[in-house]
Amino acid sequence: MAVKLDGKKLATKVKQDLEQKVSNLKQKGITPKLVVILVGSDEASQVYVRNKHRVAQQIGIETQDIRLPENTAEIELLQLISKLNADDTVHGILVQLPLPKQIDAEQITDAIAPAKDVDGFHPQNVGHLFMNDPRSLPCTPAGILRFFQEYHLPLAGKHAVIVGRSNIVGRPMAALLLNHDATVTITHSKTKNLRQLTRQADILIVAIGKADFITGVDVKPGAVVIDVGMNRNAAGKLVGDVAQASVDQVAGFLTPVPGGVGPMTIAMLMEQTVKFAERSVNCGRKNVSNS
Ligand code: NAP
Repeated sequence: MAVKLDGKKLATKVKQDLEQKVSNLKQKGITPKLVVILVGSDEASQVYVRNKHRVAQQIGIETQDIRLPENTAEIELLQLISKLNADDTVHGILVQLPLPKQIDAEQITDAIAPAKDVDGFHPQNVGHLFMNDPRSLPCTPAGILRFFQEYHLPLAGKHAVIVGRSNIVGRPMAALLLNHDATVTITHSKTKNLRQLTRQADILIVAIGKADFITGVDVKPGAVVIDVGMNRNAAGKLVGDVAQASVDQVAGFLTPVPGGVGPMTIAMLMEQTVKFAERSVNCGRKNVSNS
């Protein structure tokens, strides 16, 4: 049986550390503030926003959820972001994706000040990450990296295979692992002989959104397997991209679903917000918003 990488427990530890940091900041007169913008009424997005709000409150981070109607024009959203960029009391801005079709998500990502880009999606932050000089990390890859640190799992020289190349998981994950000296293979829907590659992986990270895509026969014995997927099966149960029961027999370490990557993603969002608030104290707000 694989050792379970317990995301719930690790996220609790991260949040406890953050509570202390928030309390220190408050003594200096700074309350970390995260603004979450939700356009429209996508059901899953509403759940995510509620969860973020709840966790932020637990830690003492101030959150403002701004809900805009489905027919919001792109220019209105850009104007709102511009106002928040200039507001020194706001340390993090997150626009919940997906956005309605009249709004170009790329324009919106580009408009958020890099120093307030808690999601790490701004091209400037993506560039810094790929140059091994990260300023803001996308939360899911950052949370995955934390498992390796917490469980003392080595990365240097290991062969990491990533299934999925999205901008929010696969690509930044590859950069992060490369920065930590892993040898990285990125696979996607056009990859030939994908399962031959996954069987060579010391570290296998699966983020494609297809339930039970990877089974025990696709995994190298003893590998570290990270299941990023969040899918609903026919019974409405939350399942990952990895067939947990069969991979459990082969892998050395495995993140469960639920209770693996998910809780860490939110914890990393909070950590990023607190880091930005700390930087605003250390650098003075002017420098931060220009960085
Ligand atoms: P996405 O943007 O839809 O990207 C999916 C990726 O998977 C694409 O690169 C796609 O390849 C690849 N892919 C799809 N079918 C494939 C196949 N049969 N073989 C190989 N590659 C295939 O997805 P995402 O946003 O990265 O999310 C992936 C999953 O992770 C979803 O279940 C999502 O809900 C979950 N997720 C969880 C968290 C968390 O906090 N736990 C955070 C983010 C995402 P192409 O590029 O070739 O199309």
